[in-house]
Amino acid sequence: MSAERPRVVVIGLGRMGGSLAAALAAREVDVLAIDRRPDVVQTFSETLPNVVVADATDPEALSQLELDGYERAVVAIGEALEASVLATSILADLGVQEIWAKASSEQHARILKRMGAQHVILPEHEAGARLAHLVTGHMLDFLSVDEDFAFIKTRVPKTLAGHVLGEAGVRSRYGVTVVAIKHAGGQFSYATAETRLGPDDVIVVSGASRDVTRFADLT
Ligand code: ADP
Repeated sequence: MSAERPRVVVIGLGRMGGSLAAALAAREVDVLAIDRRPDVVQTFSETLPNVVVADATDPEALSQLELDGYERAVVAIGEALEASVLATSILADLGVQEIWAKASSEQHARILKRMGAQHVILPEHEAGARLAHLVTGHMLDFLSVDEDFAFIKTRVPKTLAGHVLGEAGVRSRYGVTVVAIKHAGGQFSYATAETRLGPDDVIVVSGASRDVTRFADLT
């Protein structure tokens, strides 16, 4: 027997909500997509099976949509602060268990949390902070997994090239862990104590954000 498909409500089909709804539908998630603009809904009706025109700040309109079976919702109305806050509180009142909401500022994020959003996303802030790591340092990629823990993709620092991980003392000297390695022309594989770091290799390193940033600066 197949597992039950997850069901997610997406409110606001702008750049973020639209991409999200399409990505969820492509993963066979049962998506109910809502926007108040008929022209927007019309555009998505060709690609999404379940897309409706409704004003998410109207409790009547939302309760008529029978959201009971939807345990997750994403409020992707970013700029219209009042609308996003109202929609979030209505979803919480209707008993939607997990709500993600998009905020346009830290203050907006705090209000959304008070209104019942368990997860708040600040896409522009998050993208800006990530980009700062990429443009100032020597990182090829940066993924923050918690407030102070990150994974980065970087080149092998010159001082470590030619060394075997088990003897290089990366963890004791730099406080970070080399997780995976890719030799030129190859694919990523897990790093072990026997892994030799080549000058042209690319590595994935994890650790406290400050430590991984310092480590990348050695390259
Ligand atoms: P993005 O930056 O991701 O493009 P926007 O804030 O520009 O996000 O777009 C938000 C979307 O949410 C728009 O398509 C807009 O029509 C829709 N929207 C705004 N207010 C409401 C509302 N009260 N109910 C439903 N949809 C709304």
